[in-house]
Amino acid sequence: MASGSRVELLDFDRAELAAELEERFNLPAFRARQLIRWVHKRRVRDFSEMTDIAKPLREAFGDAYSVYRPELAERQISRDGTRKYLFRLEDGSEIESVLIKQPDRLTLCVSSQVGCAMGCKFCRTALMKLKRNLATHEIIGQVLAVQDDAAELGLDFHNIVFMGMGEPLHNFDNVLRALRLLNDELGHDFSYRKVTVSTSGLVPAIERFGQVGAPASLAVSLNATSDDVRTALIPINKKWPIETLMRTLHELPLSSTQRITIEYVMLAGVNDTDADLQRLPGILHGLPCKINLIPYNENAGLGFKRPSTQHIARWQDRLLSRGFNTTVRWSKGEDIDAACGQLATQSSRQKRVGDRSAALS
Ligand code: SF4
Repeated sequence: MASGSRVELLDFDRAELAAELEERFNLPAFRARQLIRWVHKRRVRDFSEMTDIAKPLREAFGDAYSVYRPELAERQISRDGTRKYLFRLEDGSEIESVLIKQPDRLTLCVSSQVGCAMGCKFCRTALMKLKRNLATHEIIGQVLAVQDDAAELGLDFHNIVFMGMGEPLHNFDNVLRALRLLNDELGHDFSYRKVTVSTSGLVPAIERFGQVGAPASLAVSLNATSDDVRTALIPINKKWPIETLMRTLHELPLSSTQRITIEYVMLAGVNDTDADLQRLPGILHGLPCKINLIPYNENAGLGFKRPSTQHIARWQDRLLSRGFNTTVRWSKGEDIDAACGQLATQSSRQKRVGDRSAALS
């Protein structure tokens, strides 16, 4: 939270900042609105540039607060235009963010933790284990730093996904504050429809996500149609099996137009059998959802195989014919290790990775 003796301004959402400014400087709430606009919307870090604030107050703010950016350690640009950013944090930890280029838009994928505790067997981040949660300023700092970089190219992005390193709902409070900042119309002003939080299925946190009205859409990695296979792929399924997860999703308060995204990483011979294809519609029956089939990215080097394109197309056709809005998400940025399941920093990449598929057979 602090940089030297200064407090990090990006760690406050608007309501918290208003309370902070009142307590510390006895200032009215509009000062929080001014600061949110300057640091989030206009991306200004130097208080002397905040021209609608009187000079003595600007100086007091400069003494009290800092405005964070992570250090850009490396930027790689894929053949398909996807950009991967390696950021170094103040304690030396490294995280990655990816600006994904799609034909009609740019989407930023951000990290929420250094490493991850969930241990999903198809994911390279899992190999790092959990080092620590990111603070809110480290989450929002990724967004601002990539905006700074993209602005130089005249680019802008309108979608953000929490699908980088980490399980976002395992870092609930800091992610929720980041979501509120992203949604604040004085700040980033992203509609909740344009921000997606992807979870491996942490049931109590999903319930809380619904209770607090988090301003984001939810995506859930299902990835299997039987508890045996899902537990082998996603160990927390043992604690919160498919039936419990689905009951929780059914109980989420959604508007009539909201849909939960069901992600299904397709692993040849593991979760893509005809029996899976028969069971999946029954599991999702009655749930307001869309299905995202994700062909496994073999470059992740974890021993799984991607099903054939024809097989994936058959799944899509069958699910569409059963009335499910179903898309296939092909990975972007595979040549720079920016694709789904490939995010892991250099030190973890150097670890030897055994063939894990045997453990699932
Ligand atoms: S898939 Fe997501 S939740 Fe699972 S280990 Fe990887 S980062 Fe963590």
